Amino acid sequence: MNARSEKLSALGIGPFWLRRELLAELRTEAAVAQADTPPAQAAPAPETAAPATLAGHGTPVGHGTPIARTAQKLLEQVTRAANPLLQQRHQQTLQQAARTADGAPADERGARIAMLDWQALQDEVAGCRACGLCEQRTQTVFGVGQTRPEVVVVGEAPGAEEDRQGEPFVGAAGQLLDNMLKAVRLSRREQVYIANVLKCRPPGNRNPAPAEVTQCSVFLDRQLTLLQPQVIFAVGRFAISHLLGSDAPVSALRGKVHEWRGIPVIVSYHPAYLLRNLPDKSKAWSDLLLLENTLAQKRG
Ligand code: SF4
Repeated sequence: MNARSEKLSALGIGPFWLRRELLAELRTEAAVAQADTPPAQAAPAPETAAPATLAGHGTPVGHGTPIARTAQKLLEQVTRAANPLLQQRHQQTLQQAARTADGAPADERGARIAMLDWQALQDEVAGCRACGLCEQRTQTVFGVGQTRPEVVVVGEAPGAEEDRQGEPFVGAAGQLLDNMLKAVRLSRREQVYIANVLKCRPPGNRNPAPAEVTQCSVFLDRQLTLLQPQVIFAVGRFAISHLLGSDAPVSALRGKVHEWRGIPVIVSYHPAYLLRNLPDKSKAWSDLLLLENTLAQKRG
């Protein structure tokens, strides 16, 4: 082996600037595929194989030498094997990405959920096992309040108490939310509906994982479409991020009227955050006033 070959070998690179392990893998898969394929369906050998060239260099390989014969054979095998195998792998990856945890294609599940009526949606959530959060929940937490609401409050996910009681925003954060709503003459039992992005509790109250939000947010989207509130009040970054499709911090998004499918959206801090960060309560108060003004405009 000359010095150049030794260096290429040390780098794990073959004569066609392919990684040796990929080359070996492709050759093995090609052999298996050929064994599995009836002769009549075997891919035809490329008609342009001669004269063979070193891939990426365009330099003809001389015929007759053992190295040239091996090189040409390998090139033909790789050309024949690589395209269908790589296409097959790409297709498998796409199909896997499009599948949900319960096995249905993601767009098919989403399309089906987007057609459900209120009762069917509640039943679907109650029995949902589309992500791993179903394993540890006590129960799903669908939402609470008026089904002809002026305002829908959207939060993040159930905590321990919500998981136990089956209702969103109970406990200290729930009391603060009720007081915030009361300050602008709203009540969760009369003008408001409250729901979360996730319907099951993440263990240890950890942040929702992106895959969980993807699986579960179709329920929230359907709830909002059926409820058609005058205004959406989104609290906390996960609710805001889902509804606005923005990862900007709450501080950068608050103070403006946004929109979700034609419905005005006001954003603010999550009540649980406000309990730990009292100075931001004054900003939340401004957000509530913006909510009140936007609602007054919608009422005419
Ligand atoms: S969090 Fe949502 S998607 Fe996951 S199991 Fe619960 S209801 Fe289903």
